[in-house]
Amino acid sequence: MNITPEKLDEIIRIVHLAGIEIIKIYKKKVTKKYKSDNTPVTNADIRANDIICKGLKLHFPEISIVSEEQIKKGKAAKKFWLVDPLDGTKEFLKGNGEFTVNIGLIENKKPVFGIIYMPTKNKLYFTKDKKSYFSKLSKKGQPTNIRKIKVKKRNKNIVILSRSHSLAKSEIEKAKKMIFRRFNANKIIRSGSSIKLCYIAHGLANVYPRFGTTMEWDTAAGDAILRFAGGRIRTLDRKILCYGKKNFKNTSFIARS
Ligand SMILES: [Mg+2]
Repeated sequence: MNITPEKLDEIIRIVHLAGIEIIKIYKKKVTKKYKSDNTPVTNADIRANDIICKGLKLHFPEISIVSEEQIKKGKAAKKFWLVDPLDGTKEFLKGNGEFTVNIGLIENKKPVFGIIYMPTKNKLYFTKDKKSYFSKLSKKGQPTNIRKIKVKKRNKNIVILSRSHSLAKSEIEKAKKMIFRRFNANKIIRSGSSIKLCYIAHGLANVYPRFGTTMEWDTAAGDAILRFAGGRIRTLDRKILCYGKKNFKNTSFIARS
């Protein structure tokens, strides 16, 4: 599906607005509770979810929405949005700023569009006509200095790992050596949230291994941005990650430039 430039502007407006509301809560009053799967949800997740779902319904009434905060039961539609209104809730609660707003569009099990906004840094990644772009959003929400991005190959890879999954100090050196060997790497960087996939798309890292379960809304937008920048996410049996799976669950995967 082609998203027209006018519709893309609307989607940018939606993530910007969600970002503004998240930052307001970030600076003032975060309230938190735990969901049935024992992960935290805050008033910012809920508020951003409302804004995004309302906006998408208004501009794309024909496309169904699956959101982290509004999970649909049953089989996935042929075409649907995957929304994570606030990815990196743990980072949000820690106050380190590494959280993002994510909207991905799935068609025939593939991500065909993605947008990720990091409101603390005004960083915006999005796709358009099967290419990926980076820009900064102005205070008014206008993208400035839009640049096309591509993955960057290296002789020795840079591995990017999650921030919130930490190892004991004694284990770090051992794990490092293993990771360097396994991924032909000589450097490890860490970051929270879906921005890791954007960093590979942007040429700042090469490999992001993620072991364990993630949800499709965690990866859909970043997957689109990575694919159209020349990278791929594969499962451990080397299949390209697909969407609309049972309960919208991803298995372990490795994203690469
Ligand atoms: Mg979330």
